[in-house]
Amino acid sequence: MKVGLIGFPVAHSLSGTMHNAAFKAVGLNDWKYELWNTPIFELAARMKTVRESEDIAGCNVTIPHKQNVQQYLDEISPHAQAIGAVNTIYKRESKLIGDNTDWIGFLADLGFYGVDVTRLDGGALILGAGGAARAIAYVLILSGMRVTIVNRSPDRATQLVSDMRRLFPEHLDGDGIYYGRSVMYLAAQRSLIVNCTSAGMWPRDNENPWPEDSPLPGESVLYDLVYKPRVTQLMEQAKTAGLQVVGGIGMLAEQGAAAFEKWTGVNSAEVSMVMREAFWKCRMGVLCAMQ
Ligand code: NDP
Repeated sequence: MKVGLIGFPVAHSLSGTMHNAAFKAVGLNDWKYELWNTPIFELAARMKTVRESEDIAGCNVTIPHKQNVQQYLDEISPHAQAIGAVNTIYKRESKLIGDNTDWIGFLADLGFYGVDVTRLDGGALILGAGGAARAIAYVLILSGMRVTIVNRSPDRATQLVSDMRRLFPEHLDGDGIYYGRSVMYLAAQRSLIVNCTSAGMWPRDNENPWPEDSPLPGESVLYDLVYKPRVTQLMEQAKTAGLQVVGGIGMLAEQGAAAFEKWTGVNSAEVSMVMREAFWKCRMGVLCAMQ
């Protein structure tokens, strides 16, 4: 059987590393994870192949298709509908079902690092308003936190705030605030800061979404969804400022484990450590050939 990643570009993805290690670990030796580079004009044909191929169990979806792919699906889970983005597709009785596992991965990884969001009382500041920010806003609000969203493009922030406010009228602070030095003042009150922008992600490693010369609040937790590189400029800056710092590689493993369960029926708890270890070995130069 095959599963794959639909996106453009996908060559940088680490998903093959973790899924292929997990297939091997649970004895699914005839399963393989592939990277399916799919420009926008090829999405319809790609989804036709996913639907019609009996040896394809499903796929992951990444930038730029997390929203557009929904038109090719038969059902979308309530969580993915609320988030407005699909990152996992699986098959049930010849139907294509869209789901979102990013929110599960984020919460699981916070737990792995001992961060209990239900005990953080200062609210969260989310940088970014793309697909990932939608999942993070959703899960934090579900967990009872108040959320403030800032984004470079004000329109996108406003849209995300109004979509979330429709679901959770009480949990949003502000109307989607324009990115800039104001971020620093907003962060002062917050116990969790989450970078959901792609600034800092390879090949833009030299970008830092935090405004230059602005202090970070030392008592907070900084979570950077970026996973390549493992340590971003923002993470370095936050560590120096005394924040607890977590990078996005664990979330990548946990959201992958949740998708793995949908395709194979193997419980995500059985493979999440295998996936984390695959990244660790990959970093040490041992396992990257498995991609
Ligand atoms: P999108 O393309 O949907 O959104 C990107 C966001 O980043 C937008 O809000 C965009 O702002 C903002 N942005 C881009 N460049 C800059 C910049 N230089 N300064 C400030 N803001 C910027 O991407 P996703 O939401 O899907 O993904 C965001 C990041 O999260 C990616 O790096 C992705 O790899 C990572 N990710 C990690 C996961 C994990 O498991 N660790 C899971 C999912 C995503 P604007 O609207 O103005 O363009």
